Amino acid sequence: MWPRIPMATVLPSPPRVGMVSLGCPKNLVDSERILTQLRADGYQMSADYAGADVVLVNTCGFLDSSKEESLEAIGEAIAENGRVIVTGCMGKEADVIRARFPNVLAVTGAHEYEQVVEAVHEAAPAGISPYVDLIPDAGLKLTPRHYSYLKISEGCNHRCAFCIIPQLRGDLVSRRPDAILREAEKLVAAGTRELLVISQDTSAYGIDIRGDDRAWKGRQVRPHMTDLARELGQIAPWVRLHYVYPYPHVNQVIPLMAEGLVLPYLDIPFQHASPSVLRAMKRPANDAKVLQRIKGWREVCPDIAIRSTFVVGFPGETEDDIAYLLDWLEEAQLDRVGAFRFEPVAGAPANDLPNPVPEEVKEERYARVMAKTAAISAAKLAAKIGRTLEVIVDEVADGGANARSQADAPEIDGTVFLRDAGHLAPGDIVRVAIEDADEHDLYGVPLA
Ligand code: SF4
Repeated sequence: MWPRIPMATVLPSPPRVGMVSLGCPKNLVDSERILTQLRADGYQMSADYAGADVVLVNTCGFLDSSKEESLEAIGEAIAENGRVIVTGCMGKEADVIRARFPNVLAVTGAHEYEQVVEAVHEAAPAGISPYVDLIPDAGLKLTPRHYSYLKISEGCNHRCAFCIIPQLRGDLVSRRPDAILREAEKLVAAGTRELLVISQDTSAYGIDIRGDDRAWKGRQVRPHMTDLARELGQIAPWVRLHYVYPYPHVNQVIPLMAEGLVLPYLDIPFQHASPSVLRAMKRPANDAKVLQRIKGWREVCPDIAIRSTFVVGFPGETEDDIAYLLDWLEEAQLDRVGAFRFEPVAGAPANDLPNPVPEEVKEERYARVMAKTAAISAAKLAAKIGRTLEVIVDEVADGGANARSQADAPEIDGTVFLRDAGHLAPGDIVRVAIEDADEHDLYGVPLA
């Protein structure tokens, strides 16, 4: 039973924290953790600068453009509020931040939760009240209630030539499987219907804590992607795997997809197909058997959707490499593709490679890759017209709804636009008849 509040008690008003969260879903998860801790410590959140006693800016340092965006966000928070704490990937460059904004109260690095929380305590001390300091069991979330990112590890053991993540976040550190599963259960109890598993390299999960099996519901669970996926599949209606590399052991999760335990969806950042470019990029799981592997996955789980990203214009990339990539894409028939023009990131080894590709050549290659993948996507979506698909509802308005099929992750993939769907609610998982399609999206109607 909650303590009764005596009539004359005036509750102290708790300090308010504003948060600006930039960058990738992994950063978003960090922001959620920080806010969860602060909420547990008695802080309230502020939706605007004016109402905040202190503002946290969780920065991204992945690309030079992301760094500039982070610096602009810090500048805006200082101009609007004045009391600013910086955290996240750019925390490594505290001197750059302090040179431009000498008034920032503190700068802490990526996933230094304790330090950032301590800095908030110093900047705006909170008095804890047993009457008002309640925290939802699953913590605070920045995503809609019905889907949640679940981070299973931090850091990365690879050293891709264009990437500075290992410098910023260090080598792979996996979370214990029972801790992940407990968090998943809490999220589901709080309304999550779709878990999005994230890390820098999901297929490498657990290699640093091999043998540290944990008891869970009377079973031993290995710190391994397959065990984790199987257990998560029993906790949440939808489980989606992101950032998987095509290692041979990925074959083991495909039957779980065929069984319906895990969504038939793999997000695999291939980045290129040409062996010489992949070698220069120092990409993991770079072997010639990837196309064969994809074919094998489709035999076990014909509906599997594969999403990927590609970088064009990497130093040394030739016309032959692009022709190879275009042929590879034709054969691979990936469902969703994002392409990027190579951009040098300060500190990345790729910047020292010879034969940079001129900007106009990059542009032209990018356009060819996008045209190819858009045509493949359009054909694959057109083939779904007339089918019945399971979708999850994201938003309902004006009698219609925006939903996603099992092949669509939030933010990065397509939408299933539904008509006559005013009776649905966000988070509903329903079957719909697909009536139309375009390059990216589907159109349908819920089945009665
Ligand atoms: S796999 Fe490569 S691109 Fe991904 S985080 Fe690790 S080093 Fe960076």
